[in-house]
Amino acid sequence: MSEGVIIKTDRETKDDTKAGSYFVSNYPPFAFWNEADVACVESMLNSPSPGNAPLGLYYHVPFCRKRCHFCYFRVYTDKNTGEVRRYLESTLKELRQYSKSPYLKGRLPKFVYFGGGTPSYLSAKDLLSLTDEMKSILSWDEAEEVTFECEPGTLTEKKLQVIKDIGVTRLSLGIENFDDHILETNGRAHRSGEVFRAYEFARGLGFDNINVDLISGMLEETDENWSSCVDQVVDLSPDCVTIYQMEVPFNTTIFKSMKEEGRLSAPVADWETKRRWVKEAFARLESAGYTVTSAYTAVKEPEKTKFVYRDRLWAGADMVALGVASFGHLGGIHYQNLTHIDQYCDSVDKAESVVRRALLTSDDERFVREMILQWKLGRVYPSYFLKKFGIDLLERYGHVFEEWKVAGDLEVGEDELRLSRDALLRVDSMLYHFFLSKHLDEG
Ligand code: SF4
Repeated sequence: MSEGVIIKTDRETKDDTKAGSYFVSNYPPFAFWNEADVACVESMLNSPSPGNAPLGLYYHVPFCRKRCHFCYFRVYTDKNTGEVRRYLESTLKELRQYSKSPYLKGRLPKFVYFGGGTPSYLSAKDLLSLTDEMKSILSWDEAEEVTFECEPGTLTEKKLQVIKDIGVTRLSLGIENFDDHILETNGRAHRSGEVFRAYEFARGLGFDNINVDLISGMLEETDENWSSCVDQVVDLSPDCVTIYQMEVPFNTTIFKSMKEEGRLSAPVADWETKRRWVKEAFARLESAGYTVTSAYTAVKEPEKTKFVYRDRLWAGADMVALGVASFGHLGGIHYQNLTHIDQYCDSVDKAESVVRRALLTSDDERFVREMILQWKLGRVYPSYFLKKFGIDLLERYGHVFEEWKVAGDLEVGEDELRLSRDALLRVDSMLYHFFLSKHLDEG
C-alpha cells in the first residue's frame, strides 16, 4: 500500500475490518468543518444569552500512561509535571474567557464531562486545585451529572476519594478486556488486577453510577475469552456497561503496521463476529437484569441510571469545549480546538482564539444531526421532531423506513420507530441514509 493510495472507509461493515472510522459521532462530518467559520464562534459568544438553555462543559485531559495500539485521540505520554500544570492553567484561562462572554451570562452547566486521554492520570492534588478553580469560575451547583473517565491502573483509593469529593457522580472505567495478554497485545497500560482493585475501592466509596467499558474485537480476541469477559462484568455488576466494536482509524498504531505490511484488512475480527459478540453480551446482560438502552450500552436500573451528557448532547444542548483538540457546540455552531498542546497553550497565553475549525450549521443540518444521534438509542419519536423542527419523519423518509421494515430492521409503533436488535448493532452503517447529499462523498 503506497502513501498515495486513498482508502475509502467501507461503510457497509459487512466483511473484514478495514481501516477507517465507522462510527458516526457527529454531523455534518468533520471534513466539512473549516477555518472560515471559526469567526462565528466568537460572534456567537458575543450574542445575547439564550437564558437557561441546557449547557454542558467538556474538559479534555490529553495525557495517558501509554498509547494503546487502537487509539486515535490526540494524547501525550511524555509530559512532566510542569508541562501538565501549564496545560491545566491554560484550560482555566480558557474557561475564564468563556465565563465572561455575553452568551454564557446567567448560565451554569447542567453536566460536566472529563474525557481524554486519561482524566485519572492527573494527581489527586492537581485534580483538587483544578476543579476548585473551575467551580469558582463557573459553579457546578446545577450540574445533574459529572462524569470522569478513568484508566484503572491510575486509580488509588486516595485518588478515588478525591474524585468522589470533587462531585463526580458517574465514574467510567476503561476496562476494555480482562485478559492480561490481550491488554498487553493491544498496548493497554493497565492489567486486570488493577481493574478489580479500583472497582472495589470505587464501589466502597458509593459512586452513584459506575460505568465500565469493553471493546469487542481487540487484537487476539477469541469467543472463549469474550464470554469470560462478559461473565466477569456481570459479576462486577456495574450500573452501566458500554461496549464498543473495535474500529481501526487511520491514525492508529494498528493502521501504521497494516500499511507497513501492505495489508488492507485489520488483524482483528470481522464485523459480523464483533456484532455477534456484542449481541451475546447484551443477551447475557439482559438475563442478568440489565436493559439495553443504546447501540453501545446496557444499564441495570434504567429509571435511575441516566447518562445526562449523552442525552443532552444528542438533543442539541450547548457544550463548551475546554482543552486541546476538544469538541464543542454553541448555538448551532460546531467547533474544535487546536490539536497541538504547545500551540494551544501558547495561543491561550497570547489571548488568541484556540478554535481550529468550526461549522455554522443550518436548521436542516441540525435536524439531521439530532435524528442521526438519536437513532443510536434504538428508537426515535416522530412527534419530537415535528414539534422541534416542524419535520414529519414518516413523510420525509417513508421510502427508507419501508425498506427497513421489509428487511426486518424496523418496527413502527404509535409515535415510535424502533430498530430490531440486529439493526441496532449496525446502526452506524445505516445512518448514511439520512446524510444530506452534499455530505455523502466525504467524512
Ligand atoms: S487510554 Fe484511551 S486515550 Fe489513552 S491511549 Fe488508550 S485509548 Fe487512547
